[in-house]
Amino acid sequence: MRRITVLACAGAAMIVVSAGAYMAGRAGRAPTPAAKSAPAQTADADLVTGSTTQRPLPAPPTVQLTLPPVPTGSMAPPAAGAGSGRTPIAAEPAAPACRNPDALGVSRVVEIDTAGGPGFGFEQFKAHDFLNAGEVVLTFDDGPWPANTPAVLAALAAQCVKATFFPIGQHATWHPEILKQVVEQGHTVGSHTWSHADLARKPLADAKAEIEKGASAVTISAGRPLAPFFRFPALRQTPELIAYLGERNIGIFSADLDSFDFKLKKSELVIQSVMTRLKKMGKGIILLHDFQRATAEALPELLIQLKASGYKVVQLKAKDVIATLPEYDTMMMKAQAGQTIDGRPTASVVRTISGYAN
Ligand SMILES: [Zn+2]
Repeated sequence: MRRITVLACAGAAMIVVSAGAYMAGRAGRAPTPAAKSAPAQTADADLVTGSTTQRPLPAPPTVQLTLPPVPTGSMAPPAAGAGSGRTPIAAEPAAPACRNPDALGVSRVVEIDTAGGPGFGFEQFKAHDFLNAGEVVLTFDDGPWPANTPAVLAALAAQCVKATFFPIGQHATWHPEILKQVVEQGHTVGSHTWSHADLARKPLADAKAEIEKGASAVTISAGRPLAPFFRFPALRQTPELIAYLGERNIGIFSADLDSFDFKLKKSELVIQSVMTRLKKMGKGIILLHDFQRATAEALPELLIQLKASGYKVVQLKAKDVIATLPEYDTMMMKAQAGQTIDGRPTASVVRTISGYAN
């Protein structure tokens, strides 16, 4: 029987909730929106541990990303299970202390064990219902982006809130200094592919490469190992890719509540969208975009309204860091250095097919 182990906040008592109790606990929940695809099954087991007490935060680490020799073979995606060795989480950057006594703050921190690639967010995954009534998780996609991501960071810092970010690999390569700010401010960072491609429409090998390139690019741009958390662009997943992420021990984050902020374009509409959906659902993982200007403009007031309505913010942390694959790290280091990533010798790229031979 599947069990969810929750280290409860008050008194740090260990509560073990059986699947039966879990189902009963869900009975009063408002109906979730129609799934964008069939509910997916993942192969994980006990994985969510929560605590209100922050672990002591050690000093920022120095990260050594070793650069392996450029592979001479093809850039084919890894064999099943390759690179899935899990690494203990590295020391975290020291987050700035909260100076706002009226801040929304973080009410609970949960640690996610991504072994087996668990899925979260009831739009697509029904297995793990770890939020209590009134709890929300803030997630931001598609950054890092000038002006908008820094504005989101400022709004979160003003309310002492921590969020989870799913940056695009290309954007991270273009704006590594902004991604570093996200990490330095104590937020959790996963990845969201290299180019925000629709993975459901790509050949499997290309789709896996998009995931790996994104993870490597974001990790290299951040300058430190990140969380093994992934979100599909437009939540477009396939069973084969869910299985692959399971082999790679990467957690998949859908959403409970899609703000559709990318369609709204006005801050007041973003606020209204989130608050209305939240009132209906009572809790949830909220999907927003730090890439969007309207979202960046909405966030200060949205956080005030969340606090005024009694919602509590839950911060996600990963038990382990992502184990990126060396061949993709090499490729992405070249991309960051402004080089092309084809990796082939000139003789196989340029060939004389007519004219004089010297
Ligand atoms: Zn996206």
